[in-house]
Amino acid sequence: MTLPGTGTLAGRAIAALGRCGATLPTIAGDAGPAPLTARTPIDGSVLAFLHPSTSADVEAAVTGAHDAFLAWRTVPAPKRGSVVRRLGELLCEHKSDLADLVTLEAGKIRSEALGEVQEMIDICEFATGLSRQLYGRTMGSERPGHRLSETWHPLGVVAVITAFNFPVAVWSWNTALALVCGDPVVWKPSETTPLTAMACDTLLRRATTETAAPDGLHHVLLGTAVIGEQLVDDPRVALVSATGSVRMGRAVAPRVAARFGRCLLELGGNNAAVVTASADLDLAVRGIVFAAAGTAGQRCTTLRRLIVHRSIVDDVTDRIAGAYRQLTVGNPFDDGVLVGPLISGAAYHAMHAALDTARADGGVVVTGGERVGSGESFYVTPAVVRMPEQTAIVRAETFAPILYVLAYDTFDEAIALHNGVPQGLSSAIFTTDHREAEGFLAADGSDCGIANVNIGTSGAEIGGAFGGEKETGGGRESGSDAWKSYMRRATNTVNYSGELPLAQGVEFGPRSPDDFA
Ligand code: NAD
Repeated sequence: MTLPGTGTLAGRAIAALGRCGATLPTIAGDAGPAPLTARTPIDGSVLAFLHPSTSADVEAAVTGAHDAFLAWRTVPAPKRGSVVRRLGELLCEHKSDLADLVTLEAGKIRSEALGEVQEMIDICEFATGLSRQLYGRTMGSERPGHRLSETWHPLGVVAVITAFNFPVAVWSWNTALALVCGDPVVWKPSETTPLTAMACDTLLRRATTETAAPDGLHHVLLGTAVIGEQLVDDPRVALVSATGSVRMGRAVAPRVAARFGRCLLELGGNNAAVVTASADLDLAVRGIVFAAAGTAGQRCTTLRRLIVHRSIVDDVTDRIAGAYRQLTVGNPFDDGVLVGPLISGAAYHAMHAALDTARADGGVVVTGGERVGSGESFYVTPAVVRMPEQTAIVRAETFAPILYVLAYDTFDEAIALHNGVPQGLSSAIFTTDHREAEGFLAADGSDCGIANVNIGTSGAEIGGAFGGEKETGGGRESGSDAWKSYMRRATNTVNYSGELPLAQGVEFGPRSPDDFA
């Protein structure tokens, strides 16, 4: 069996992987489990055949990570930060190689692939600084001569399960924070993006060696959901950070809960933007087109629903449809291409079926939805669909570039439509009216984890906490105080008084030490 695929794209992938220091393992004959086939959505060709991890590999990875934890948790946090600082430098050095792999495996256009790698570099900088800022609080004790405070300690092994569409950024959000917090990582990337994962793993291992960190801080396991399930059930895994579909979260969360483990869920979104009558439409249309058609509609934060004031809905729809018709769909490596391929034939069929359902519900496809080309790759023109109401298909996340447009009359109606879906990831309002903007951000406004004004739903910065509510799972990653998910908190009371007063004025037992005599 040949290991690498034989096409030009396979050559490009193997070259990028090689520059990152990773080599493809040898697959001996036909023995062992069926190989994992890495393909590119660009033309459907094979990039490489890989060894899928076995159950024994999972066991060894968790054991190795747990052993590493016992040493790593006692390393001072600022020293732990030096591994992440070095990782950030290596990511900078290999930015172009990693972006190549992201484009090859996930189909992102070059600029977005470079942006995803930049996000890794950014979070490494953030985490390096954070390694000196894992602050606990000191609270005033109600008892004299007592000090009440909290301390944050490393948590344990973190399993990171990631989706295909952010094959490296989500890993880095988790891993950079976990490492400075004192936690080793076992990573189960999407089965669709194994080469990108191998490259990152190799660079991180290099960073750990060069900074003399303990062995076993990072492991990557290649394979399907079965590998993820074994990680989910392992009691030595203190935190399962799982990114993917709501379906996956429904399977993972109860299993982790059954063993009282900790879960951080980043699941599907069904993001909307409200466009009010006062909106700056030039700005709004630009923001909407990037959020809805960028990454071929395959971001968790992709704009999927547009809720527009009835007085401007025709105008807004026409402008967006006009902009959509100018988007170039094609090979994501080519200059000028803004929309790359869908990840698979299944994604294309799901889009097709969703458009059929929308039509049956009275929707009108204003533009897009056609397949471009044929064969083993699946390119589509992004679709804009006018809907008479928010039907079941609009309330579901179809992971493809479909933008449903709905009209509203009152602001309260817009908010009700906006919040009337099971998911709660990202949201936006386009308005120049201060009251509408603040109303959208208020407690009875958007119910999402991310709420923006005059900017689209996608393209978050790493400085804020990232995640969503309701079926999106409630997890928070990346910036702000998301690090707290990767640590355990101990509340400490120190009595330096020589007396033993009880809290809340409780009295118990003898009133003086002489009473014990
Ligand atoms: P997916 O749910 O099919 O797979 C995600 C990962 O989970 C893969 O690694 C997969 O092997 C693993 N997995 C699946 N079932 C599992 C199980 N029972 N136990 C353990 N692991 C399991 O998702 P996908 O198609 O790769 O990605 C698209 C989805 O991910 C969309 O719904 C998108 O909105 C979501 N997503 C969410 C975020 C976020 O931050 N909220 C980010 C990226 C993607």
